[in-house]
Formats: sequence, C-alpha cells, structure tokens
Amino acid sequence: MLTPIQAVSNDTFLPERLNLAIGKRCFVSCQGCYTHFGQHEPDLKRLLESVSLFVDLGVSDITISGGDPLTINNLLGFLDDLRQLKVRSIKLDTVGTHLIQNPLREEIPPGLEGRPSLNSLMKRLDFMGIPLDGWSNATVSLFRAGRPQLYEETKELLDAIDGTAGFPMVIINTVAHAMNLSGLSRIGQEILRHPAVCHWNIFQFSPTDQVSAEINAGYRITDPMFHMAEKAWRNSLASHSATAKGITTEFRSVRSRLGQYLLINSDGVAWVPDERGQTISLGAVFQNEHQILSDWSKTVFRLRALRNPPARIET
Ligand code: SF4
Repeated sequence: MLTPIQAVSNDTFLPERLNLAIGKRCFVSCQGCYTHFGQHEPDLKRLLESVSLFVDLGVSDITISGGDPLTINNLLGFLDDLRQLKVRSIKLDTVGTHLIQNPLREEIPPGLEGRPSLNSLMKRLDFMGIPLDGWSNATVSLFRAGRPQLYEETKELLDAIDGTAGFPMVIINTVAHAMNLSGLSRIGQEILRHPAVCHWNIFQFSPTDQVSAEINAGYRITDPMFHMAEKAWRNSLASHSATAKGITTEFRSVRSRLGQYLLINSDGVAWVPDERGQTISLGAVFQNEHQILSDWSKTVFRLRALRNPPARIET
C-alpha cells in the first residue's frame, strides 16, 4: 500500500502518489492549513486526461484531496471515470462532514444535493483518509477550527463505516503538534475501537508559508520530540493491540515526507512543499505532464540532497 518512492533510474524518482488536491473549499478551517488552493473549480475532464498520462508515465496511485473533495460537483462520476483508467488505487481524504449527516442512505437531504452518500462513495474507493487530531471536541479544535463538534462527528462517521465497510479501508491521519503530542495514545485508543481502520498516519506538523510565523511556531515540534513520541507509542500496550488487530502505524516526519507526493490543485497547478514549508510551484500541468514529472523529480532530488548533504572528504 504505502510504498516508498520508486526509483526508476539512479537519479529519477516517481512520486508515491499523485495527489489531486482539487477540492477548492473545505468544511473546516485549520489554522495550520498548508494547502495551496486553486482559484477555480476543477476541470474534471482535463484532470482525467492528465491522470491518464501520469498513469502511462508510471504514477498509478491516486489521492483526491483539497480542500475537501466532497465539495467537488459530480465527484461520483469523476471517480467512475478514474476507474476506467488503469489506476491502481484511489484514496480520498475527507473530513466527511456531509457523509455523517447521511451515512447510510442514497437519498441526499435538501441543500446537499449532488453530494455523495457514504455508501455510494465507499463503493468507489480503495481507501478513505479521515483526520483525527485529538481525543475530545476541544483538543480536535486546537488544529481543526470551524466545526466545534468535529470529534463527535468523526466518531459517528467511523461507527457508520464500521457497520458498512466490507474490509478495513480507513486511514486515520493525525497532525502531531505541540498541543496534542502528549495525547497520541488517547487518539490511538479511539482508533482501536474501529474495525474499519487499517492504518494510522501520524504526521509531524510541517511549517508552511500559507500561514503566519506565529501560527507555525505555536504548532511546531522538534524532531527529537517527534521521535520520543513514536518510541513511547511503540512501547505502549495500545500499540501492541493495534498490531494484533492488523492496524499499521506510521510516524511520518517532515523530512521523511519530503517529495513523496506530486500535488495538483484545482487550477491544474503542480506544486511541492520544501522542508521549511515553502511552496515550490511547478506550473500548469495540462498537456505538460512529462515535463512536470521531470521537474518534480529534479526538485525532489535537490531537496533530498539539501536534506542529506554529501559527506565532506577531508584531504
Ligand atoms: S482539512 Fe485540510 S484542506 Fe481543510 S482546512 Fe484543514 S488542512 Fe486545510
């Protein structure tokens, strides 16, 4: 599933996943949001053409994110069309807000027409990524503002998926930051309750140029803090229970994530963040896929070289 970056030659890489960050709006408002939002609604037809070319170039695992992809018009039709291409897996990252208001029925309540139900969505996905950053409404809202009941809503959503998923297909995504790091085991306890969960990603908070320096400083945790938290989790009983239940756990530091994804926003602009969270734009992707992939590869190579400078040879 979550394979390392594939090397296709000594100095050329392919991204682990093509991340279509094409939802241009979101149901929540995270203070530390790193997304480089597009200005326009996504052109789904052109995106499909683009994905087809990327698949031919060897990138066949697709993530759909945003913003929140539930805000995309005709999302289900887009997913059906994606399936017609030779994609290997489709993952959709969502807060799931509207799914829990209509978890089990195909009928959509007034005002939410055009948005998919949980059942209709799950049928079309290999994985669904859901954020969980705390163990109460108050701790969740330390990062994800704008939905004061988000923790309860997320639990409700997970309960609904537990009852309908034929196999574990939920990936929980946690942003570990200065205010929730000590409570990771409490988040883990909630995850253990849900048979639908197959994997837990814990992402070290990454600073970003999309927000202020003060906000970055408030969430920042150092590498040693992050590694200590991983050690504490790995040694805990809850971690062993997770392993016994088949839930894999991955602590993903800022450095380890460098250049793992090729991100494309709703305007069709490709970008990649560097280690300090600076957004590096690679330009428009449509009809330029081969060049974008080549530029992405060179950029990643450079970022990784900066991260691990070659050892100096003493003379
Ligand atoms: S859920 Fe994701 S896209 Fe939405 S505001 Fe938060 S970080 Fe940004």
